[in-house]
Amino acid sequence: MAGKKKRCLLINPWICDFAAYDFWLKPLGLLYLASYLRENGCEVAFLDCLNPLHPDLPSEGRVKVPRRRPSGHGSLPKETIPRPEALTPIPRRYKRYGITPRIFRDELQEMARPDAVLVTSMMTYWYPGVFAVIRQVRDVFPGVPVILGGIYATLCRGHAVRHAGADFVFPGEGESSLAVLFRDLFGDEPVFDLRDRDLDDLPYPAFDLMPVKDQFPIMTSRGCPFRCTYCASHLLRSRFTFRDPVRVVDEIAHWHHRYGIRNFSFYDDALLIQAPERAVPMMREVIRRSLDCDFHCPNGLHLREITAEVGRLLYRSRFRTIRFGLETSCGKRQIETGGKVTNEELRSAVAYLREAGYRPEDIGVYLLCGLPNQASGEIRESIDLVKACGARPVLAEFSPIPGTPIWEEALRVSPYPIADEPLFHNNTLMPCRSESLTPGAFQDLKRLCRTG
Ligand code: SF4
Repeated sequence: MAGKKKRCLLINPWICDFAAYDFWLKPLGLLYLASYLRENGCEVAFLDCLNPLHPDLPSEGRVKVPRRRPSGHGSLPKETIPRPEALTPIPRRYKRYGITPRIFRDELQEMARPDAVLVTSMMTYWYPGVFAVIRQVRDVFPGVPVILGGIYATLCRGHAVRHAGADFVFPGEGESSLAVLFRDLFGDEPVFDLRDRDLDDLPYPAFDLMPVKDQFPIMTSRGCPFRCTYCASHLLRSRFTFRDPVRVVDEIAHWHHRYGIRNFSFYDDALLIQAPERAVPMMREVIRRSLDCDFHCPNGLHLREITAEVGRLLYRSRFRTIRFGLETSCGKRQIETGGKVTNEELRSAVAYLREAGYRPEDIGVYLLCGLPNQASGEIRESIDLVKACGARPVLAEFSPIPGTPIWEEALRVSPYPIADEPLFHNNTLMPCRSESLTPGAFQDLKRLCRTG
């Protein structure tokens, strides 16, 4: 890149919600972008609003300093804030998770003025945290272009364009959009253009920028070959692509040796798909190298892919946190929503995992709660089945996502104006729940999950 080095500031914004927890959350997409920008000669700064261990937090009396677990998850700093107007009728405390606005502002003011600010976004209904970040950036760095990307920007682009206050809203995969931006903003050609390249060509994410290096997320693939009607995977990633499994282990070993990282999380949508060519050689390689590392899969893994060998390898290569997506035991709904799994596959997968050494409490199975026209009895039956198989049911409240096949049905059944206001996508509200799934019934289901 000709001329002065461009300076880019990347920001992971606050979460604003009724509840949030850091299940190995890290802004992986943003850290990949940081590497990409560096490859193109930019200087990159990073500000993580979710830093749970910011040194100034203890002096902020209002904020509860979080408890962290050695394996890299834990609660986030939080502060109760007024509910956005649309949520005022909801009688629950609403919080901002992360560092305080004062700390954020101090950090901004200590930085050199950037040439561009890139802000990512996650859940659609977390946008108040994104907007607050953009407002502060505008205040401290007037005139600096602000670019918004990420999940909210992709799924609710119109809303983001109208309300976020960013100069550019880029939906979809960051690398390809940024190439365009590079030209428009910096008037330059990116020397390192990632479009049409393999995932194996990506530089490693810029984990050196993370203020807390307790665990690192590893991406082995993008997208998913399934099309479950409630899932946004195909809206966020147009194709299913994956990396060479040995190169994935090279990356794990790299971070393990460089920073002593012992915990790694996988947020792939389809980690176990095509297991014989991908996960199996990856896990064998981890074992062969005797890496002293633990692995965590908070995203639902595919039960169908669990064979005796895959179960054994998961156990031996130290996959400590394993979660699977069953979603419902109702056969009709399983087929209607995409056919990714059957009850028989659940039974056989859990049996293999138990044989391999996992205990029932280790095997978490997600069950969706509050799908359109889903009676509470269906959820109760699903819980009973998971427990009878020897696994642990984990309830996941359904959040309707614009653009998914189930969205039209969600629009019909929801009493909330979900098309106009993303705050009503919030899973805490269960905005599409049926009449039988009352708050009391939901509490009963949660209790049922906990009892033996
Ligand atoms: S299998 Fe999982 S990631 Fe793939 S479409 Fe279905 S829910 Fe989404």
